[in-house]
Amino acid sequence: MTTERMLVVGAHSADFVWRAAGAIARHTAAGGEARVVALTYGERGESGELWKQPDQTVENVKRIRHSEATTAAGELGAGFECFDLGDYPLEVDRDARDRLASLLREFAPQVVLTHPERDPFNPDHPVAHAAVARARLLSTGGVVAAAFRTVPPSRWYAFEPHQPELCGFVPTTYVDITSVYEAKVRAMAAMAAQSYLRDYYAQRAEQRGNHARKVTADASIRQAEAFQQLLPRVVDAL
Ligand SMILES: [Zn+2]
Repeated sequence: MTTERMLVVGAHSADFVWRAAGAIARHTAAGGEARVVALTYGERGESGELWKQPDQTVENVKRIRHSEATTAAGELGAGFECFDLGDYPLEVDRDARDRLASLLREFAPQVVLTHPERDPFNPDHPVAHAAVARARLLSTGGVVAAAFRTVPPSRWYAFEPHQPELCGFVPTTYVDITSVYEAKVRAMAAMAAQSYLRDYYAQRAEQRGNHARKVTADASIRQAEAFQQLLPRVVDAL
């Protein structure tokens, strides 16, 4: 069991589902609390199916995306909120950065997940990474006394991008998601606006499951998610 808090920050409202749904579900199944923040709904650049409909509007797409993401997060036992900053391009201004830093201070997560630093295929994912990096430091300060309220540094991971090699993503950590995989499938099914990604990320979960078995020789692992630690972890012994 755990009482830890996990914060997952995505540029768009569905990013958490493909890349971290299993890790979120495992966290909450163990008793932890999880919150998902989407900086945008991905209403313009990541809602492909919805834009095939005639007379579609940005406001309607946002409404549907809010509903889909809330349902998906609910399947994982997590809360969902969206800053609604506008996507393609995502711009994180001072107010938005301060809002994220305030959330980090108030929620004080022990674990933070977000995009990797690089993504040559997406204009918004690196912006989200930079925003989280900065807000995280603003919430922790330099781990010395400061003029503002601070919280302890969190463990910080990147979740897996669409084309990991081209984003410089090297897994350091696999989460065995076998026991919660059905919840991930339900969460992916809730994201109807990007149904084309479901098969892709189901395959990825199987592949990462294979890789996790290779590392551990644990034949019970069927599906896994990959993460990259962004800072060293400190342990008592190796
Ligand atoms: Zn995205």
